[in-house]
Amino acid sequence: MVKLIAVDLDGTLLNEESQISKKNLEAIKLAQTNDVEVVVATGRAYFDVQTIFKNTDIKTWIIGANGATIHQPNGDLFHSVPINKQDAIAILSWLEQEDYYYEVFSNHAIFTPQNGRELLTIEMDRIKSANPEVSIEHLEHAAKKQFSQTGFSFINSYRDLLETDVDIYNILAFSFNEEKLRKGWAKFEHKKDLTIVKSAKHNFELEHKNASKGIALEILANELKINLSDTAAVGDSFNDLSMLKKARRSAAMGNAPQEIKNSCDEVTLSNVEDGVAHFIYSLTKDA
Ligand code: CA
Repeated sequence: MVKLIAVDLDGTLLNEESQISKKNLEAIKLAQTNDVEVVVATGRAYFDVQTIFKNTDIKTWIIGANGATIHQPNGDLFHSVPINKQDAIAILSWLEQEDYYYEVFSNHAIFTPQNGRELLTIEMDRIKSANPEVSIEHLEHAAKKQFSQTGFSFINSYRDLLETDVDIYNILAFSFNEEKLRKGWAKFEHKKDLTIVKSAKHNFELEHKNASKGIALEILANELKINLSDTAAVGDSFNDLSMLKKARRSAAMGNAPQEIKNSCDEVTLSNVEDGVAHFIYSLTKDA
């Protein structure tokens, strides 16, 4: 019997306007009423997730920063795995040198360089001038979505962070240049102390090697005294794979890439068709 359901946010619980539908909210409430724990598992920062849930009456456990943090339903931090300072400095200095737009997810804010948004505009302009016939509307949409998070704090350089005692949970690098993304992936994929994942087409994200949505799900299940054989997970992207593989029952969203669908037990509806509600109801029906 499923006692714990892990639900990704973007492309999963959220629709294209980054909102939670009424049907999805009702399904979560039904699960909670039936003593099923729901945990939101996202790459987003905890305070950003709080803003998204602000106008709902739902409180859940929250796995944030791709598994680097776990917060209790009452908002207390239960578990965290920051990136080693030296590793963070090495990553950030390289990203700056390569003119990346980046975001540093910390316990205080999402730090991002002052000139970062300008760098993305330059990338978009280059793509536009190289392919004048192609619409860049989807790129503008992706950038807008990226900037719509809450909790940004602007810095001149990563050096501004050196003197602070912030815990860095997750570093997100974002680019519209595929070659640049490949180069970044190749630079970090073999670093033994880091986890690298991709949550969307234009990014890669770095965490401590002991931080992933899958590891966090296991830690939480253990805390709640729930067997992994009584867990389920639903998601749409590569940063969900660790938890989709860890959970007993896994569902890929209808809008997920084929590779994710192939890794799951089942495929539910898309994020604009209340796929999460559909999956939750299928679980409670079987129970
Ligand atoms: Ca997602």
